[in-house]
Parts: sequence; structure tokens; C-alpha cells
Amino acid sequence: MTRKLYYEDCHLARFTARVLDCVKAENGYYVNLDETAFYPEGGGQACDLGTLGDAAVLDVREQGEDVIHLCDRPLETGSLVEGCIDYERRFNLMQQHSGEHIVSGIVHEMFGYHNVGFHMGSDVITIDFDGMIPAESLPLIEAKANEAVWKNLPLHIWYPSPGELPCVGYRTKRELPWPVRIVEVPGYDKCACCGVHVSHTGEIGLVKLFTLMKFHQGVRIEMACGKRALEHLSAVYDQNRQVSQAFSARILETGAAARQMNEVLARMKYTVTGLQRQLFDGVAESCANCGDVVHFAADLEPALVRELADRIADRCGGTAAVFSGSDANGYSFCLMARSGDLRPLGKAMTQALGGRGGGKANFQQGQVRAGEAEIRAFFRKL
Ligand SMILES: [Zn+2]
Repeated sequence: MTRKLYYEDCHLARFTARVLDCVKAENGYYVNLDETAFYPEGGGQACDLGTLGDAAVLDVREQGEDVIHLCDRPLETGSLVEGCIDYERRFNLMQQHSGEHIVSGIVHEMFGYHNVGFHMGSDVITIDFDGMIPAESLPLIEAKANEAVWKNLPLHIWYPSPGELPCVGYRTKRELPWPVRIVEVPGYDKCACCGVHVSHTGEIGLVKLFTLMKFHQGVRIEMACGKRALEHLSAVYDQNRQVSQAFSARILETGAAARQMNEVLARMKYTVTGLQRQLFDGVAESCANCGDVVHFAADLEPALVRELADRIADRCGGTAAVFSGSDANGYSFCLMARSGDLRPLGKAMTQALGGRGGGKANFQQGQVRAGEAEIRAFFRKL
């Protein structure tokens, strides 16, 4: 049975232990020690990584009463080795995991919902609850969670006696057999958990809730604690600083500046569209009674390509073929006529010019990859 130093001191990063056993495995060596500070995977928390002597620890699993370390090289049975865990990684995981307890406890207290899923991504973590939480409650949950952090409460971890256990009133996903390890954040949460946690809530530093979205029958909250929260918020702040510079707006007024910019853009778009229509009328007039027309226009959205084709078709008396784009990026097109069936022409054109499109008998719309010279040559051949 391995002595579990990580339960005795969650901040222990270096330790010396005796190698009890070292067995060749498919992808390394399984090493069993008399004691370890390496937390094995469990309770939704990833295992610790680090080194044992010269060997890198690649994975740690619990096997019965033992903690087995998967190492990249063998260690001599009976020897003493120095263990060193990647403490920065471990502390980060403890911050997320302990913060998750507090948020889950607060949600359970406020709404009676259970944490039914927990995932630690690379930058944020997610918690899934089995009921709907109104988005307006997010700031209150966050405020309560940070209040718990700033009180710097000691986490109380204990194993209630068989008689005590039914009266403890802890959060759990399923009925657990005795003994049960209870992790308590006094006043905020009581939960059955086998993970490693910070010793005082102050070590979590900060709890930041980002988003709340509907998920299955409940909601998913995206959040981060401690260093991750700081890094994420710093990245968001940097983006906002760039927006602030681009808009020449104060850092707390970028939202209003962006809305204002959208309004200006909408007005400009309206003006430009009006001018474009006048231009279209001029182009259409110049094509009056010309029969079939092939026209190239600069930088038009597909809807405007169709509108221009429509106006030319009104005046030309034949088929209007309008293209907009560039030789480098290809062209959007619209074929339009007041009589006949354009589908065979559309099909032949997209086949010959490398593109795709569709539509009805009186109009065909799509894209081609060919250049202007090739497109003009195709229509000359008709
Ligand atoms: Zn836990």
C-alpha cells in the first residue's frame, strides 16, 4: 500500500521514496514506491507529471491500494529516489478543481441542481448542471464564489464515521459506500471527492464565470480560476486595448464605440447602395438593345451582381451575363434573360470555366474559377 503524501500535504512538490518494484511495460516501466506525492488520475482531476530520479513520469494510476507511476526508464528496486512533481501544473489544477467545488456548492444551495459534468480544457473549464440557471444569476454566483475565496477559509477534509455519514448532507453523483472522503469549504460546499485541493480558499485567487449556455436538460458554465482566469482576462483585456486604440475610444467605452461604428457603416452602406443603383441604371442604359451582353463589374456582392444583371436584362433584349471578382480569386456570376431557358448555358459555362452554380430557367447564379479572358472567349464562341 502506497503512503499517499498528496493527501497529507497538497503543496508537497519534492519527496524521497524507496522503489518497491519496477516492471517493464509496453510503453515504459511501472514503478511502485513506498510513498508518493504524485496524485493519480481520479475524481475528474488529471494525474501529476514530473520526475522520479532521472526518469520522467508519464502517467500515474491507482491500482488497488498502490499508486503506480509509468516512467520512461527503469529504476533500481530497493533504491531511494527523489520525486519531483510539476508543481506549477498541479497548483493550477488545484485552483480550478477547488474553485469548481465552491461554484457547484453555491449553485446547489441556490437552485438545488447537481454538477453532472466537469471538464478542464486548456484555458477554461466547464461545469454542467442538471437544471436551468437564469443568466442574470451569473454575477451573483460569481460574487459569492469570490467572497468565499477572499475569506481565505481552510478546507476541511475528513472521513465521517458510518453513524455520522447519513447526517453530513454532502453533494454526490451516486450513493457511496463507507468510508467517504468529504471535502468541505465551510459555509459553501460539502462534497464527496478523492481529488487534491488547495489548503485555503485564498489560494484560488480569483473565480471568473464567463458564459452560461443551455446544455442537454440544464446549463453549462464556462469559467476559470486563479492563474488561468488571470491569463484569460489578460488576453481579453489586450484585445479590448487594441479595439480601444483602433476606435480611439476609452477602454471602458469600446462597446459604445463599436455600436456607433456599426451605425456609421450601415448608413454608408445605404448611401453606397443608392449610388450603385444609379450606376447600374447607367450601365443598363448603355446596353440598350445590344442583344447578348457580357459585363464585368468590380467588387460586387452576389446579390448586387444579380441586381445589375436584372437591370441589363431589362434593356438589352438578350441574355445579360454579369461577372464580378478577379482573375486571382475567381468570379461571381449571374446570367439573366427575359425569355428562353438559361439552364443549359449555365451548365455548359460552369463546366467549361470550372465553377458551380444553379437557379431557374430565367436566371443562373454561381461562381467560376476562370480568368476574364477565358470567360470572354467562352461567350465569343457561342
Ligand atoms: Zn474535489
